[in-house]
Amino acid sequence: MELSEEQREIRDWVHGFAENVIRPAAHEWDEREETPWPIIQEAAKIGLYGFEALAQFYADPTGLMLPIVNEELFWGDAGIAMAIMGTTLAVAGIYASGTPEQMAEWIPQCYGTPDDPKVAAFCVSEPDAGSDVSSLRTRARYDEAKDEWVLNGQKAWATNGGIANVHVVVASVEPELGARGQAAFIIPPGTKGLTPGQKLKKHGLRASHTAEVFLDDCRVPGRCLLGGKEKLDERLARAREGKRAKQHAAMRTFELSRPTVGAQAVGIARAAYEYALEYAKQRVQFGRPIIENQAIAFMLADMKMEIDCARLLVWRASWMGRTGKEFQNAEGSMSKLKAGEVAVWVTERAMQILGGNGYTREYPVERMHRDAKVYTIFEGTSEIQRLVIARAISGTYIR
Ligand SMILES: Cc1cc2nc3c(=O)[nH]c(=O)nc-3n(C[C@H](O)[C@H](O)[C@H](O)COP(=O)(O)OP(=O)(O)OC[C@H]3O[C@@H](n4cnc5c(N)ncnc54)[C@H](O)[C@@H]3O)c2cc1C
Repeated sequence: MELSEEQREIRDWVHGFAENVIRPAAHEWDEREETPWPIIQEAAKIGLYGFEALAQFYADPTGLMLPIVNEELFWGDAGIAMAIMGTTLAVAGIYASGTPEQMAEWIPQCYGTPDDPKVAAFCVSEPDAGSDVSSLRTRARYDEAKDEWVLNGQKAWATNGGIANVHVVVASVEPELGARGQAAFIIPPGTKGLTPGQKLKKHGLRASHTAEVFLDDCRVPGRCLLGGKEKLDERLARAREGKRAKQHAAMRTFELSRPTVGAQAVGIARAAYEYALEYAKQRVQFGRPIIENQAIAFMLADMKMEIDCARLLVWRASWMGRTGKEFQNAEGSMSKLKAGEVAVWVTERAMQILGGNGYTREYPVERMHRDAKVYTIFEGTSEIQRLVIARAISGTYIR
């Protein structure tokens, strides 16, 4: 398998930014626990942060460009890379459900301009609805007289929540229909009734802002319902009749987005592996480099193999998604599950190889380990991925 010249060029360009701009700043922004606006702006200025860049990566007919770009950025540093790529979550939400007019109006506003870059947030999770997204309590009510939607509720864990220019909020329109009674809404910049909640202090990804968001009689124009009212009414009517048609579409959306998240985990794992490999060649104990011990060299061999396995699963699922193949065995979930678990395992091994140094903040692998852990939790926990795969391969509703 060989990458095309264009794919190699983009990969090397993104790698250069990761190596020369992101990496040198990684420790500082991890310690500051703040959104690295100057780096987002630099990414915007070179055309790496913005909807045109995303469209270019997405246009690659093999589907590999987006995971390659993500792997390189997260190889640089996961916290900063998430500050750059977090907006993509909201953009994907608009892309999945929006009309062409809604995409044209809102996607550019998610990014702002190179002189004044913005970020966007995708708010689904709630304090009582994490893995179980069918039980959202945030409600959206239609005020027909004013052609406005009124949203009330509380969102949890939103990447860029409260600091975003555009918030995409998933809310329940007909709670008794579960996930099928939900819809996604744009909350335009400066809308009254949306207030930032507490910013969370996290174990890892500390340069990425994660916060609660409160919606208190938050009114948005009718045109902010993604997909439009007519489509929603049709969908609700079908759901009320108990027809199953669109459930498949929601599952496919997850299978499409999960490989990109897996690619991020691969980037973190590769960074830790490369660091540990070099360290093992330099560090001398008992009169020889520690890599000359099979215990260390075999660990590195396994790390390399696991990373390559994870990447191949990510690339397979990305290629399947882009070329319209059916995810019969939940291959998208498989790729995210494997990559997330590999990232945790590899970064832990890297700390072991660095010994005491691996446990200190003087060396980057402990940060990589902290960053990696979230990949078995967000975008569907490892248990939920296994559930999805088990259901797909068995055709049985496993609980
Ligand atoms: C850094 C970070 C960023 C995030 N960004 C966003 C964001 O931008 N937007 C957003 O909407 N959300 C975001 N999230 C939320 C994230 O998606 C949820 O944390 C995740 O879905 C898990 O939900 P939960 O935390 O409520 O855990 P729970 O659902 O309470 O799960 C707790 C444990 O129970 C297990 N479990 C639950 N149900 C089952 C089951 N049926 N079978 C077996 N095991 C089960 C889980 O696997 C897990 O181990 C973010 C989270 C973090 C940590």
